[in-house]
Amino acid sequence: MSVPAPDWFAREIVAPGITRIWEPHVHSFFRSNVFHVGGRDLDLVIDAGMGIVPLRPVLDLASGKPVLAVATHIHVDHVGGLNEFEARAGHRKEAAFFEHMADEHTLAHLFRAQPEAVDRPPDEAWSAERFEIRAAPLTRTLDAGDRIETGDRSLRVLHLPGHSPGSIGLFDERNGDFFAGDAIYRGRLIDDLPGSNVHSYRETMQRLLRIEFSRAYCGHGEPIGQNELRSIAGAYLDKTG
Ligand SMILES: [Zn+2]
Ligand SMILES: [Zn+2]
Repeated sequence: MSVPAPDWFAREIVAPGITRIWEPHVHSFFRSNVFHVGGRDLDLVIDAGMGIVPLRPVLDLASGKPVLAVATHIHVDHVGGLNEFEARAGHRKEAAFFEHMADEHTLAHLFRAQPEAVDRPPDEAWSAERFEIRAAPLTRTLDAGDRIETGDRSLRVLHLPGHSPGSIGLFDERNGDFFAGDAIYRGRLIDDLPGSNVHSYRETMQRLLRIEFSRAYCGHGEPIGQNELRSIAGAYLDKTG
């Protein structure tokens, strides 16, 4: 792994206790969000970026407090830094694949083949052709309905397949916060990857339309509100119906 490049990541506080971190130099197709959710007893790191530059040092992690890294799904742009965390969670349907991080599951080969995969390498020795995802076996397997407790938040695991078989979201029913992964975000939703399933994606969208969210923290791009979420879900159903 490359040495830390301090300006590799960008970050903003998007709500009290929630920081969004992203990688501006990564090609826009792969430029995903990491969310650091500070909890009273447990900090959550939701998704882990590309792993091109170590993620953990840029997080403001209080020493001693446990950290759980949750992968919303196994794609390359969400799991590259997962190995930096001792406690790692993901959905049962993709759980076995985190032990090997094979290209057929992470789709890392698509990043390697991407022209201008980064607009500026983190150091002179780095090259996209040699990019690899490190194995990060899960220490906790998640199922729909499971809860992740941080001491001041209780997040319910929603199984939201379609983009990938084991895509999940985390939903805070108390305040409507929704960490959506790649189930929904502003921009074209990707439903044609190996492992994608349009029928499942449609069911996920119908389900999202029935839930009262306040704000969605998406796997890509800016957070969105309930109205925008519903219009994206509706547009997807119209397009694929
Ligand atoms: Zn994805
Ligand atoms: Zn993604």
